[in-house]
Amino acid sequence: MARLTLDHVTKRYGDVVAVDDLSLDITDGEFITLVGPSGCGKSTTIEIVAGLTDATEGSVHIGDRNVTTLPPKDRGVAMVFQNIALFPHMSVFKNVSFGLRLRDYETAEIERRVDRAMEIVQLGGMGDRKPEELSGGQRQRVAIARAIVRNPDVFLMDEPLANLDATLRTHMRTELQRLHKQLDTTVMYVTHDQAEAMTMSDRIAVINDGTIQQFAPPLTCYNEPRNLFVAGFIGSPGMNLFDGTATADGFNSAAVSVSFDHSSDIPHKITLGVRPEDAYLAGSNRAERLSAPSTAINAVVDVIEPMGDEMLVYLLCSDEAAADAESVQLLVSVPPETDVEVDESVQVVFDRSRVHLFETASGAAITHGLDTEITPDTDRP
Ligand code: ADP
Repeated sequence: MARLTLDHVTKRYGDVVAVDDLSLDITDGEFITLVGPSGCGKSTTIEIVAGLTDATEGSVHIGDRNVTTLPPKDRGVAMVFQNIALFPHMSVFKNVSFGLRLRDYETAEIERRVDRAMEIVQLGGMGDRKPEELSGGQRQRVAIARAIVRNPDVFLMDEPLANLDATLRTHMRTELQRLHKQLDTTVMYVTHDQAEAMTMSDRIAVINDGTIQQFAPPLTCYNEPRNLFVAGFIGSPGMNLFDGTATADGFNSAAVSVSFDHSSDIPHKITLGVRPEDAYLAGSNRAERLSAPSTAINAVVDVIEPMGDEMLVYLLCSDEAAADAESVQLLVSVPPETDVEVDESVQVVFDRSRVHLFETASGAAITHGLDTEITPDTDRP
C-alpha cells in the first residue's frame, strides 16, 4: 500500500502525443480509475506506471521511491490485464504461484500466500483445476489472485472485465470493490466504461487526448462536470447539450430557451446542458414538484425506449417561428408507466437548479444550476 504520484508525464510516439503532461496524486489506499474514450492514453499511462513503457518526460513515484527508471519487477506493482493469459497446461495453483516460484520463494510461504489469495477471490479448494475447467469470471479471479500473491504496493488493472459478459461484469464490479476494501491497497484501474468508473472508484480521472479533464469523486464529475467533454462522457444516457447565445434575460437557441439572471460579462456563445433525468414532461407529478422549473419547451415525441425502471423519450424540438428550422433532439427520462405516444405533442420543463452552462469555445463550465447569481469563473480550464 502506497501513495502513487505521476508528475508531468508525457509520452510521444513520433508525432503522436499519447499522454500529454499528465499529473496525478493518488492517496495511499485509494481506488482511482482512468476513464476516457478509446485512444485517449489510458493504457499508455498505466503501462508507464507499471514500467512496461518508458515516459518521454516526467516521473513516477510510488511511496517515497522514484520508480521512473526501475524495471517492472522492482516497482512493487502487480498488473491485471484484459487478456488474462493463464497457462492452460498448469493447474490454478501453479498459475497463481508462478511468479513466486520464479523468485524462489520457500514452498511454505508460496502455499500460505496462494491459499490466502484464493480465499480472497473465493476460489478456495479449486487449486487443482485447469483453467479450461473454470468459467470466464473464475479465470479472471485466478489472474487477480496471481496479482494478490505478490503483495503489491499498487494494483494496476487495465480493462480487466472487458472480456466478460454484461452480467458477470456487474458482479465482478462488486467483487473488486470488496477486494479493495479487504486488501486496503492503492488501485489504478483503466476502463472506457463510465458506469464501471462511477460505481467502483473513490475518484475518477476523466482523460481525453492524453490530458486529464477532471480528477474528482464520481458524483462531483456527474454533478459538476468541469467542461463539455466530462459533461458528455459521464452519465448514461448522456447530457442534452444545446449551442446558443447568452441574451439579456438568459439562454437562447433555435429550439430551446431558458431565462436566468446573469452578469454582463458572461460569454456570448454558450452551451446549455441538462441531463435526461433533470428534464420533465410538463404537467407530470415530478414537474409539478419542481421549485424552479424553466419555461415550457414545445416538442414532438420521436422515439420511445422502455427500459424497465425508466422510459427514455426522444423528442424533437424546433423553432416554430422558422418554417425550415432543423429539429433538435432532446432526451427525457420519465417513469415507466408514463402515458405518452410517438408523434404526440408535449411540453418539457427543466429543473433550473440542475441546468449547466458552458462556454462553447473553450468548453469550460460557467455554472451548475441557474438559481445562483452567474458570474463566469475565469480560473476554470
Ligand atoms: P487507450 O488505452 O485510452 O485506448 P492508448 O494509451 O492505447 O489509448 O493509446 C493512446 C494513443 O497512443 C493512441 O493514439 C494510440 O494510437 C497511440 N499509441 C499507443 N501505443 C502506441 C505505439 N506502441 N506506437 C505508436 N502509437 C501508439
